[in-house]
Amino acid sequence: MKKVILFVIDSLHPVVLERVLAQGDAPAFRFLAKHGTYIDRVVSSFPTMTPVATSSMITGTWPDRHGVPGFIWYNEEIRKIVDYGATWQSVLRIGQEKVLRNLLIKLNEEHLNPETPTLYETLEVGGYSTGCVNFFMHRATRRYPTELPFLISLVTHFGLNHEKVSGPSQLTLGELIHPPFSGRLNSYPRGIFHRFGFNDAFSGKIAAQLVQEGKQPDFMVVYFPDNDRYSHQYGPLRTGPSIERADHQVAAVLDEFGSWEKAIEETMIIVTGDHSQTTVGFGSEYLIDIDCALKSFKQLKSTEEANEDNNKEIAICPNERMAFIYILQRINEILPDVVSVLSKDVRNAQIAWKVSENRYCVLQGGTEKQLFFSRLGTYQDVYGQSWALEGDLSVVDVYVTDDQKIKFGKFPDAFTRLISALEARSGSRVVISAASGYEYLAVGAPIHSGGGSHGSLEEEDSTVPMIISGMPISMDNVRIIDLFPMILRHFGL
Ligand SMILES: [Zn+2]
Repeated sequence: MKKVILFVIDSLHPVVLERVLAQGDAPAFRFLAKHGTYIDRVVSSFPTMTPVATSSMITGTWPDRHGVPGFIWYNEEIRKIVDYGATWQSVLRIGQEKVLRNLLIKLNEEHLNPETPTLYETLEVGGYSTGCVNFFMHRATRRYPTELPFLISLVTHFGLNHEKVSGPSQLTLGELIHPPFSGRLNSYPRGIFHRFGFNDAFSGKIAAQLVQEGKQPDFMVVYFPDNDRYSHQYGPLRTGPSIERADHQVAAVLDEFGSWEKAIEETMIIVTGDHSQTTVGFGSEYLIDIDCALKSFKQLKSTEEANEDNNKEIAICPNERMAFIYILQRINEILPDVVSVLSKDVRNAQIAWKVSENRYCVLQGGTEKQLFFSRLGTYQDVYGQSWALEGDLSVVDVYVTDDQKIKFGKFPDAFTRLISALEARSGSRVVISAASGYEYLAVGAPIHSGGGSHGSLEEEDSTVPMIISGMPISMDNVRIIDLFPMILRHFGL
């Protein structure tokens, strides 16, 4: 059976990849595309945030099933906001130990729904070996003790040392968990200035080493984080150089097979992204201050627990170009008030909430337009889902053909993705998605004026390219959840 390597480049933008390929500046990707299938449009999760999207890739489900709603979300079980460390300020405020524990342990061991098996778990039960190199999601049956670099333990007073993290047969999480280094130690960029091994060169080096030493598992995910930072800083349309750097890393892995031809004879290689990004306008009018807009409600602080004493009304959880407003009490009163405030701002492209069982509403900010939607109805979409619709279809840029078929425009797979954000775990909420060029400002939100951002329902944040090489494939209307069944099928499971 041919092995599989899945390379995931954070925030890979389809237009920029296409440009880099056309200019011949990414020889490895060009080779893979030439000898494989190039899909220019694969739909990501909503919100288009890394923990959500990578959970969708590794479980083949959306957040309403896999249970990871966002980068920042409200956990009704503990009545607190969960933040995986969106900004340095929030890390300091919440406490480094809590943030690290959320990201390293709770995300995989608690937040990711135990009922949705990961690719690693399913493949290993089927008798295949699997591996994860620096990918966020690594839940599997083996237990690894963490070795915290001295500096992290010192700074965080982190009592995590020797606590167990679960993973597949090969697990690398930066300097914390990795196979023994081979060759020159300084070829593995580590330490505080290299994010403790969470960088492209470290990921590439470990992947190449596994191939070279004959330890390549049957299925392996290799994650490249650097492009996301680059894109946030310089804007998605200027990510050419960082995509080229990821290409060098993939090229070095392919080299280990002896030749690139041999690499794709022996291994199916997939290159894709988790989500993409949109350019944010420069200037304060492009930042939508939701803390301020909702200041008349009693807002839960990021470190507080919601209880009878503090009587908090809402929890604002910003996810860059998307936000959750959780309603903590008197839902029938507070929810409509929150919606009414948000609907006055034209920069809120969509404002959505659950009306009742299988009935949802979405409004367009700054207009009177609204649309009710429910699963199962007379309108069919391209994914084989059917919908009952009532209201103004332009709220999600959808139109219906003469034969009752739904065509999505600027908001791919809008209904399923909105529902998945509204139904992820428990808790009443309003979900907002920003118009093109805008980003949400709130306590705990990173901001990227004049740079790049993501999170929204919109096409530019939501579509990634995918190259599949070493295996003939024909797929239409691809979504990132399709990777899961595609890889299982390849292994005959
Ligand atoms: Zn990002």
